Amino acid sequence: YGDPSQKIDYVFKVVLIGDSAVGKSQILARFARNEFSLDSKATIGVEFQTRTLVIQHKSVKAQIWDTAGQERYRAVTSAYYRGAVGAMLVYDVTKRQTFDHIPRWLEELRGHADKNIVIILIGNKSDLENQRAVQTDDAKEFAQKEGLFFLETSALESSNVETAFLTVLTEIFNIMN
Ligand code: GDP
Ligand code: MG
Repeated sequence: YGDPSQKIDYVFKVVLIGDSAVGKSQILARFARNEFSLDSKATIGVEFQTRTLVIQHKSVKAQIWDTAGQERYRAVTSAYYRGAVGAMLVYDVTKRQTFDHIPRWLEELRGHADKNIVIILIGNKSDLENQRAVQTDDAKEFAQKEGLFFLETSALESSNVETAFLTVLTEIFNIMN
């Protein structure tokens, strides 16, 4: 999880967005600290977490921003999006409404962020297969139409979280090189 003394070649800011309780903070906890909590409180305080990884022999510091519970009040500000080169648009595969709100989040993102921002759509909580309310193919089709990457993840089972971040970070890296 990163040697703090190593030299950094790139810093990439990536923002997490999506409805409240879809698992954004747990996805970040899994990626940044390999932790998970089932009774996570609404996000407080910390604006972002970082993890340094190596992509094609360069050290890349991923600076991942998490909404401080502001998604409830639709008060995610433009400062949140400023300088972001990647975005993870998260819904909960067991809550249809969180998927139905994705176009709204996408519109907000496209209104505030850089037009070349790399976006991945993430259907989280894939471990809750028996409560599934959003079909994988529907999300895949939407992502294709909108030109987004797409993956289903489980922060709980640590499934695809690493891959989701690597997909975004590698694409950003490739665009810059
Ligand atoms: P946020 O509001 O989007 O940041 O959502 P949180 O990360 O706080 O998660 C909301 C709730 O969903 C918490 O109770 C988490 O433990 C739970 N949760 C998050 N990710 C998963 C997952 O992959 N699977 C399951 N079963 N629960 C999850
Ligand atoms: Mg949160």
